[in-house]
Amino acid sequence: GTAQIGVTGLAVMGRNLARNLARNGFTVAVHNRSAERTHSLVAEHGDEGTFVPSESLSDFVASLERPRAVIVMVKAGAPTDAVIDELVPLLEDGDIVVDCGNAHYDDTRRREEALRGHGLHFVGTGVSGGEEGALLGPSIMPGGSAESYQKLGPIFEKIAAQVDGTPCCRHIGPDGAGHFVKMVHNGIEYADMQLIAEAYDMLRTGLGAEPAEIAEIFTGWNSGDLESFLIEITADVLGHTDAATKRPFVDIVLDQAEQKGTGRWTVQSALDLGVPITGIAEATFARSLSGHADQRAAAARAFADVDAGAAPWATDDRETFIEDVRRALYASKIVAYAQGFDQIQAGSDEYDWNVDRGGLATIWRGGCIIRARFLDRIREAYDERPDLPSLMVAPYFAKGITDGVPSWRRVVGDAARYGIPAPAFASSLAYFDGLRRDRLPAALIQGLRDNFGAHTYRRVDRDGAFHTQWAGDRSESPA
Ligand code: NDP
Repeated sequence: GTAQIGVTGLAVMGRNLARNLARNGFTVAVHNRSAERTHSLVAEHGDEGTFVPSESLSDFVASLERPRAVIVMVKAGAPTDAVIDELVPLLEDGDIVVDCGNAHYDDTRRREEALRGHGLHFVGTGVSGGEEGALLGPSIMPGGSAESYQKLGPIFEKIAAQVDGTPCCRHIGPDGAGHFVKMVHNGIEYADMQLIAEAYDMLRTGLGAEPAEIAEIFTGWNSGDLESFLIEITADVLGHTDAATKRPFVDIVLDQAEQKGTGRWTVQSALDLGVPITGIAEATFARSLSGHADQRAAAARAFADVDAGAAPWATDDRETFIEDVRRALYASKIVAYAQGFDQIQAGSDEYDWNVDRGGLATIWRGGCIIRARFLDRIREAYDERPDLPSLMVAPYFAKGITDGVPSWRRVVGDAARYGIPAPAFASSLAYFDGLRRDRLPAALIQGLRDNFGAHTYRRVDRDGAFHTQWAGDRSESPA
């Protein structure tokens, strides 16, 4: 065979990835279960580069140069397993199967182990940037063996987004590392979007402003610390008018957020790893809450008059309020990223992936949904101090937080006072205050646990574990 790389699964993502590869000069073998997709790709885009189409999987495999590199871009879950099972007998020692779908990292670890047993490399690869990214340059997070990256690296680095001459692709670590960091990326994306949504809600309610005015505020924010793709498209969405009703688009959209599951996976993993990713968890739960239409209607009826008689919210100093919300958003965002990077470190420790967090920040600067100016600062923070205990304490971020604290407190206070749900703002402030607190009431929890369950406690003044005879003479003994 002569093709340098192959793509099987030519729905929107696979098709765009194949076109991106061809446009960058690679000879691309293409295949899809139903051949129409293969033919239409070549018919519509054959002039963009060199495609080698096949109708059967065996012809597809035969059209590849060795070691073969096959990208699988089919529906996640059972279809991915089905395609892998079909591929394995057709491949030879040293060939590489790349799963660019949104797989759970546990599945990737299982598949990697199974294929290793067949002498094959399996590379679970996170790809961020959606359809457009796949075509024009995504952020690519390949896991798998270092050896497989020797073949894939030069190809992926060429088709990835480029920022300041650096490709948004690097080898993340063995087996499931790539899909793990992609999962956390999506979790951070959930938190970022929830924080933006809360900022919008505060501005809309606090200022009584129309979406179009708030769009301008976000546009202004996009030239400062918050500069990012998500802030930019927030202005775009808020500024959009519904053609049918001439009302602000955001007002005609049903207010129930959906999810495909990567936020949930992130939170489940964080619970297992014991990492308090409160921002991502609140963002995921906020989406769930929004979907509980019946409960929302019942609660709205039951508590319709709860704030009756309360003073209405009148923001007297408009500019100060806007700046407060901006600072609260920025500080909360630092917390969300700090938590996400903590989870990546915990996953890396748990599975021996040796993930380089600074390097990871580099490849999220372009192509992906959370791309932001801010990621350069994250890279700098980890370059300066690879064992940084929390991103929050890196000097640049510590300053962003410190400068924002009074605003953050005012915004969370206003939200509580005027009944605006701001769970991500509030929980990130609580996380910050919890982390920096001298003494936590966790001491009382330890006392309770010892009281009802003899779970023991440690003392501040002596080593070892202790138990108090709560039901007896209250004497203390070493446990
Ligand atoms: P879909 O997830 O809609 O999957 C459709 C493709 O899967 C078609 O090529 C279909 O073939 C193939 N397929 C389904 N079942 C089988 C099977 N049993 N055997 C062989 N082929 C099968 O495609 P998308 O392009 O939307 O997404 C592909 C992957 O990328 C998914 O894992 C998805 O989660 C992920 N994704 C990632 C995004 C990102 O930003 N990274 C965005 C969107 C998706 P046929 O044409 O014959 O039906």
